[in-house]
Parts: sequence; structure tokens; C-alpha cells
Amino acid sequence: MATFGCAIASAGKYACRSLLLSASRSTLPTKFIGRYASQVGFIGLGNMGTHMARNLLSKGHCIVVYDVYPEAMTQLVDSGALIAQHPADMAERCDRIITMLPSSPHVQEVYAGENGIFQQVKPGTLLIDSSTIDPSVTKDLAIMAEKRGAVFLDAPVSGGVLSAKQGALTFMVGGKESEYEAIKELLYCMGENVVHCGDVGTGQAAKICNNMALAISMIGTSEAMNLGIRLGLDPKMMSKILNMSSGRCWASEVYNPVPGVMEKVPSSNDYQGGFGTALMAKDLGLAQLAATKTSSPTPLGSLAHQIYRMMVNSGFPHKDFSSVFLYLQEGHTFNGRK
Ligand code: NAD
Repeated sequence: MATFGCAIASAGKYACRSLLLSASRSTLPTKFIGRYASQVGFIGLGNMGTHMARNLLSKGHCIVVYDVYPEAMTQLVDSGALIAQHPADMAERCDRIITMLPSSPHVQEVYAGENGIFQQVKPGTLLIDSSTIDPSVTKDLAIMAEKRGAVFLDAPVSGGVLSAKQGALTFMVGGKESEYEAIKELLYCMGENVVHCGDVGTGQAAKICNNMALAISMIGTSEAMNLGIRLGLDPKMMSKILNMSSGRCWASEVYNPVPGVMEKVPSSNDYQGGFGTALMAKDLGLAQLAATKTSSPTPLGSLAHQIYRMMVNSGFPHKDFSSVFLYLQEGHTFNGRK
């Protein structure tokens, strides 16, 4: 994978000076030429964003960061990132900005709120939202950006915290082809796969469909593991059987929900880090909204949504979504009683 942003590998704080313009100018649409010596803005330094921003730094980009929690910025600043006072300040200083925020209201606030990006955005700025949000909000923000001469694309990700750390995310991009071409090199600094899904909003559509399938398969894996254990099977043996049989899926193969079966997954770390149950409930809600709008039958998606919502109300909101195993194992029933 040849990426000229990534190829200029200089570490952290000395990165800006080493970013040169020459390498791939000819491959870019004219209106985006010249952006690659500039600062890249990054807003939302949580479980995912911190690693993504760090990968941009390590690939030689000069970055400006912002998060509502100042502590979230400390480590990146120590590694050479600059700080913006608020999103509007960042918009004044950067002509490519990536946002990685929890949900639609956070994204709306950061772009369209007081001191939001749209207050100061410069014409031609590329705005890339990698949060998972409602595709209709994405489309509204794209219209608002266009009125200011800027470009808004959706580029939600799949892969989880480990992939974010390893720079191995999958990006699902919605926007015009030329705009996709202009941002893909930047995204390859944080991911292994960058896929153009279609017009703005289609990245989010792909993402919520993926996560609906993920939630269903995580619940299925958890049910099977719990039943196997109650039938006297060793959990590691059960996991081995699933992964050499037709029950295999991502949840069983790389993210087993049972503590102690796999190393370096949230289930073996008290379900800390990873992808929060509240975020999964949010994504399933988005899928249900889209299913209602399109009259699509999603009975298992609907049930998965209910299960994750009940978990949120049962003390699980900040635990990784694989904690559905614990929720089932501890005997929570569908009316919330044990
Ligand atoms: P997170 O809650 O860990 O991080 C979000 C960050 O945004 C926090 O640091 C928070 O302080 C910051 N923030 C909130 N409001 C803000 C505002 N107004 N201005 C600036 N910063 C603000 O979330 P995460 O796990 O990093 O996920 C981010 C997005 O990525 C979500 O939409 C999620 O659905 C999606 N996602 C997460 C994972 C995962 O495994 N965690 C995987 C794929 C996609």
C-alpha cells in the first residue's frame, strides 16, 4: 500500500517539517492539492480516537487535538500533538478534520453547536466523521458543510480498540468519488481497509448493518458458550469446537465473551475497554430506526436491541458489549429480575 502521508515516517513532534508535498500530487483532484503539508485536526480522544490520532502522529502527520476532557489530550500532547481550544479554533487551523465521537448529538454539537466547526470552517476543508451515527444526521451535516464550501464525508470504522491500536481498522466511506480519493491516503494511516460505499450516508448505513450482525452473533456465541459450560464442557474446549465448526464467527474466533478463554480481549479484563454496551445499544437503535423507515424485517436485530438496552439499565453500560455473556450467565431474565 503506497501512501505518501504514511510513507513519510517521522515520529511525533518533528513530523510537520518532514511532510513534503511532491510525492503523489498528480494522483489527487486539483481542488484538494496542497493539503498534505497541513495540520490534521482530531476531535474525540476516547477508546478509539486516542489510538487513531496516535497512528496519524506516528505516520508523520502534524495533528491538532480536542476533547471535552482535557486529560484525554495529555498523552498525545506529550507525543507532539497540538491542542485546539474548541472545534471552531480547530477549524481555523486545519483543513482536514476527523471526528470520533460517541453519538449523533455529540457530532451535531461539535459541528453545528456554539464554537462548533461550522463557525470557522474554511472553504475546501475536508470533514471526516468516523463516529457511528444516524445516516440522516450525516446527510444534514453534509448539506450544512456544502453551504460553507466545505466537504463532509462519513467514514465510520469497524475493528474495535485493538484494530485501532494496530492501525488495522476498516473504514466505510460515504461521499463523492473524488472526495473519497482525497481522504483515503489519510485513512490508510489508521486502517487496513478503506472502502468507498457510495454517496454521503452510505458509510453509516454499512456500519449499522454490520453492527446489527455483530450484536446478534455475539449474543448467539454467548448463549452457546453458556449452555456448553452448563452441560459440563470446558469453555476453552467449547471455543475450540466452535472455531473448527460451522458455529464459527468473529465473536467466537477473536473476541470470545467468556473470561479466561482468550488473552487480551475485554472478557479477560473484567470487560473493560473495548466497545461499550451503551454504544452497541445506540447502534442497534440506529439500525431499528433505519429498518422502520425502510419497512425492513429485522426480528433478531430488534431482540438484540432490547437485550442491549436492558443491559444498559442493569449496570452494564460501560462494560464491553461481550459482557452479554455475563448478563445471560448471571440469570437476568427479560424483565430485568435475576
Ligand atoms: P468513547 O466514549 O471512548 O470516546 C468518545 C470521546 O469523545 C471521549 O473521549 C469524549 O470525551 C469525547 N467527546 C464527547 N463529546 C465531545 C465533544 N462535544 N467535544 C469533544 N469531545 C467529545 O467512544 P469510542 O469507543 O472511542 O467510540 C467512538 C465512536 O466510534 C462511537 O460512535 C462508536 O460507536 C464508534 N466505534 C467504537 C468502536 C469500539 O470498539 N469502541 C468500534 C467501532 C466504532
